[in-house]
Amino acid sequence: MGRADAVQSSTRHCIRLGGRVVDYRLVRSKAARKLRVRVGPSGVEVVLPSTRNDEELSKFLVGHESWILDQLDRAERLRGVRRTVPRPVGEFLYRGEPIRVRIEETPSRAAGNTVRLIDGEIVVSRGHGSLTPVARSLEFWLRREARRGIESHLAVATARLGQRPQRVYVMSQRTKWGNCSSRRNLSFNWRLILAPDYVLRYLVTHEAVHLAVPDHSAKFWLTVQSLCRDTEKAKQWLCRHRAQMQIDLKDILKRTPESGRPSSASRIPCRAATGTSARGFIRESALSSRARPSRARGP
Ligand SMILES: [Zn+2]
Repeated sequence: MGRADAVQSSTRHCIRLGGRVVDYRLVRSKAARKLRVRVGPSGVEVVLPSTRNDEELSKFLVGHESWILDQLDRAERLRGVRRTVPRPVGEFLYRGEPIRVRIEETPSRAAGNTVRLIDGEIVVSRGHGSLTPVARSLEFWLRREARRGIESHLAVATARLGQRPQRVYVMSQRTKWGNCSSRRNLSFNWRLILAPDYVLRYLVTHEAVHLAVPDHSAKFWLTVQSLCRDTEKAKQWLCRHRAQMQIDLKDILKRTPESGRPSSASRIPCRAATGTSARGFIRESALSSRARPSRARGP
């Protein structure tokens, strides 16, 4: 392959073909000689040589409209789903409910990764050229959400107790949910954002009460229960969901079949003029913009 293609910037675009909006990744390449389009499991990729302009690109895509749509239908049939890009990549608990994470290439020129909650999914937009691993960006976002929740519950609990912590930390221990140190520093596990809000409130209340009562005496539990009526329910939830709370984001993102970033196989521009199969069902095409649209035949 032209190694230079791999380092070219790619951007997301869409075009209306046959009444359908087709999303594609555009790779601008200095090394490529011909306009190329390929349709694979990760969607449509177009390689545009630097000698060609956007108008030629549009003509090329419209000229190959039926071939592209055939290939998209075929890829979708084989995968058994309608949508090609982006796809869900992992699932875990978030505020007590299962939530999916989706990774997409950012359509803008933004450099960094961004994480947002969109329609009940966590969407990580990967910035072009970002060196920050997706798992780290996701953890950073979850930590921030956890801190927000912790601080709002803490404000209520400490006001009622008439106590103030020295500092509040959001930590990354695997199994410890919270701690109150002898220096009156409170620390909480960011994974508490995976639990329902009443569980977070219980944990925050528990540690806040330790500012007034350092042990687990009857007085301690009476105070916790007076501030948090869901104490027993929260303890039971934590007990039942301990395993689901001990997540490793890297594992969640790794274990999934698609990471959102094209695999090394799908980044390799196709040399052949007719489709070849890299993973059994990838169909590729390398078409000159001046060539007649070629029709792919069934395998
Ligand atoms: Zn305790």
